Amino acid sequence: YPIVIPRDKHTLSRSGLSPNAIKVLYRLNKEGFDAYLVGGCVRDHLIDIEPKDFDVVTNATPEEVHAIFSNSRLIGRRFRLVHVTYGREIIEVSTFRANSAPTDESKEINGDSGNLKGKDSARSAHGIILRDNVWGDIEQDAQRRDFTFNALYYNVADFSIHDYCGGLEDIQKQQVRMIGDASQRYQEDPVRMLRAVRFAAKLNFEIEPNTANPIKDMAHLLDHIPPARLFEEVLKLLGSGNGVATYHLLREYGLFRYLFPETDDLIRSNWKNPHIDVEKFILQGLKNTDNRIQEGKSTAPYFLYAILLWPKVLHRHTEFLAQGLPETPALHQAASLVLDNQVAHTSIPRRFSTPMREIWDLQFRLPKRFGKRAFTLEQHPRFRAAFDFILIREESGSDLDNLGSWWQDFQDANDKGRLDLINKAD
Ligand code: ATP
Ligand code: MG
Repeated sequence: YPIVIPRDKHTLSRSGLSPNAIKVLYRLNKEGFDAYLVGGCVRDHLIDIEPKDFDVVTNATPEEVHAIFSNSRLIGRRFRLVHVTYGREIIEVSTFRANSAPTDESKEINGDSGNLKGKDSARSAHGIILRDNVWGDIEQDAQRRDFTFNALYYNVADFSIHDYCGGLEDIQKQQVRMIGDASQRYQEDPVRMLRAVRFAAKLNFEIEPNTANPIKDMAHLLDHIPPARLFEEVLKLLGSGNGVATYHLLREYGLFRYLFPETDDLIRSNWKNPHIDVEKFILQGLKNTDNRIQEGKSTAPYFLYAILLWPKVLHRHTEFLAQGLPETPALHQAASLVLDNQVAHTSIPRRFSTPMREIWDLQFRLPKRFGKRAFTLEQHPRFRAAFDFILIREESGSDLDNLGSWWQDFQDANDKGRLDLINKAD
């Protein structure tokens, strides 16, 4: 190692790469530093998928990179790097890192970042990496990456690819393989279990047995990951076009319950409610999101989260109704309780929880269409999302008295047609 593949022996060509990323690479070279493209952009290119962003890695420190590019910002604490900005495109530039083995000094820190001041590397009492800013060379940098296909380096100086971990072979074999000992790597960063599943679904690869086997027993380590990080990870897992395939793998490996424990409980317990088939509904919602992404349409994180938590909202709602609460307070209390329990696992910023509540609220208001109500409801900022939500409920088998097609007709009709529809609904 490394295996060096010269320019005429691989399919990665400069023309398919971001011109801004190339600019960053040349500029770093010109200043006397090594610079490579690495990670998702090299991997996806070789598999013939359009890369979504470009990561650059260099032997320059973040401060040196920042000094070279006036259009750059230093970011991150747990993982310091530089963002070089060109209009809307951000090129991430990070520095070669060494795998920071736990030292005596940094071993026993208990998740409290107050104790991390001035330290370049640190781990929690569970061995989870809290800070990862020890610089190294390219070889060390390759070893600390997660999967072999993520440790491929494209050198713009001679257009070659450097493969330190057998990533090209694994791409050929269509397998997700962890670099090093998988259990140890999951212990250091349990999010790697989610990433294994994410790449398997996205690339349609198998997870190689040594990489797959420890996951079931180690899944519980996700409980130690900050909810904000899991929130971001869930969006990548379920909201980037492969949600259905990813969901199946998350369930198969026992990971889903650490992301959405209450939803998982309902699915496992086979909760019977005449109004919803929980898993069918979740799958229909994910399929809808996947399709929208395929068609190039926008998707909203709050919609996805509203889907994933709706079954539990209904479940709690049923309970509160049974306790004698009227419909609306029962819903509001159900929503609050579900959100409160969920944020212990994945955070949900207020800008998402508010529209989620609105979508849920509208599920109970869209059936009430008499008088002027239909016109008012149609103007609600969350009407379109709530309407799509109704369709998903119906497509997954809920009998809502053809509410979806009524609202479809209402939106399509002229003034007279609309009045006829309202009379018909009364
Ligand atoms: P995509 O951007 O398509 O989600 P990616 O592979 O580029 O995929 P990023 O999260 O952008 O994923 O990370 C860039 C690279 O950084 C990865 O390819 C991998 O080499 C490394 N990396 C990211 N997260 C981890 C991790 N938790 N442990 C080890 N290496 C990681
Ligand atoms: Mg990336």
